[in-house]
Amino acid sequence: METCFRLPMSLSSSIPEDLPPVPPRRPWARWAALAVAALLLLGGAWHWWSITGRDTTPIRWEDLVPPASTPLRPWNVIVIHHSASRKGSVAGIDNAHRQRGWDGIGYHFVIGNGEGMRLGAVEPTFRWRNQREGAHAGGGAQGRPFNQLGIGICLVGQFQEDQPDSWQEERLADLIAELMHHLPTLGAARIIGHGDVPGKDTDCPGKHLDIDRIRYLVRQRM
Ligand SMILES: [Zn+2]
Repeated sequence: METCFRLPMSLSSSIPEDLPPVPPRRPWARWAALAVAALLLLGGAWHWWSITGRDTTPIRWEDLVPPASTPLRPWNVIVIHHSASRKGSVAGIDNAHRQRGWDGIGYHFVIGNGEGMRLGAVEPTFRWRNQREGAHAGGGAQGRPFNQLGIGICLVGQFQEDQPDSWQEERLADLIAELMHHLPTLGAARIIGHGDVPGKDTDCPGKHLDIDRIRYLVRQRM
């Protein structure tokens, strides 16, 4: 037996015959929407890149050298640190160190990891610009010479657990090489990790930051 469904006459006849006129097409509207979407996408990509993209700004002594009125300290050692955090910036570390009662961030330079600062961004702090002694090597008689004559460089990262990004290491080596070129007192520079400061019991700069590799990268640039 066949079944056949028909539209009841009452329904089919209820479609009005005098439909309202079709509005005119607006082909530009679709293109405008596409253009806006593309702009938003580009803007988002640029924003993302400006935060996480590599910083490739050349590291030049002309940009680092303090004003002539600020004599250079006779630096003789470079002490490398990590921030022991996966995210960080000069402002954030400065804030944390002030809360310890210091007069500001203890390091002379900070190098970003793309979380809080661009990956490989090298930022000098007030301690470098004013040629002030550092607050990074630890107190006591043993740490004191490393604060007075040691340039403290902090890499944002937690290198007791994570591998440093190779670009961050390259930028560290670029910075050290540039400093060595222009600071005669660093001629026979010692590059050490924070944990190498005599009497200092610390994991800093973390077991995954290989100081020998940094020395090798610096030698390549000299
Ligand atoms: Zn340290």
